[in-house]
Amino acid sequence: MTTPYTYATTTPDDRYLDGNALAGILSNLLPGDPTLHECRCGTCHSTEPLARALVYLDCPGTVIRCPHCSAVMLQLTTTPTGTYLTVTADTTLRFPSKP
Ligand SMILES: [Zn+2]
Repeated sequence: MTTPYTYATTTPDDRYLDGNALAGILSNLLPGDPTLHECRCGTCHSTEPLARALVYLDCPGTVIRCPHCSAVMLQLTTTPTGTYLTVTADTTLRFPSKP
């Protein structure tokens, strides 16, 4: 069994939002409604729309965790030089084909 990739421990006091909080943050970076993109967790391999993810805003940047195993899947950081979207190992985002 692999250890979830994490920068911090998860405690009951952690405050997070659901993935709908990503709509505004990611709408400038990803096509369409970013909350509908499927994200496959690199740790437990569950696949859910980003809307189901756990979003932590009280971090350096924004940390997006898996709703099943709480592993970090994505990190979004904005600096004076640009915005960085980090996808952790084996995590996959699916962009649906246009009909
Ligand atoms: Zn997971």
